[in-house]
Amino acid sequence: MKSLTEYLWFHADTRRAFFNITPQVEELVRRSGINEGLCLVNAMHITASVFINDDEPGLHQDYERWLEKLAPHAPTSQYDHNNGEDNADAHLKRTVMGREVVVAITDGRLDFGTWERIFYGEFDGRRKKRVLVKIIGE
Ligand code: ZN
Repeated sequence: MKSLTEYLWFHADTRRAFFNITPQVEELVRRSGINEGLCLVNAMHITASVFINDDEPGLHQDYERWLEKLAPHAPTSQYDHNNGEDNADAHLKRTVMGREVVVAITDGRLDFGTWERIFYGEFDGRRKKRVLVKIIGE
């Protein structure tokens, strides 16, 4: 069995942001030389997500609005966690949007549905954060 482990770094200038990280993950799959296997991608922080969905800007606005309805950032005093911190909403958003994705590798490529792309969702940005990519197979 072959494997490859890499970390991707992100720095959002805003509190919340979505990044399409599919090209970076595809590059790692190429570099791994693995033809048949699995690719795990997970956020290494509890206020950020990795998820799969459509690369469509309207949808990303919808996520932003929907997540703000579910777990509004302000007023920060509404959360018990915000006791010296202000990121309780980011922890809740991360839980809803998920920690990781696993994508099959078939014939050396990520085996996606037609519109599937991998995203990093940042909910408490303005600092460096990383994502683990682990690829195993043969
Ligand atoms: Zn916190």
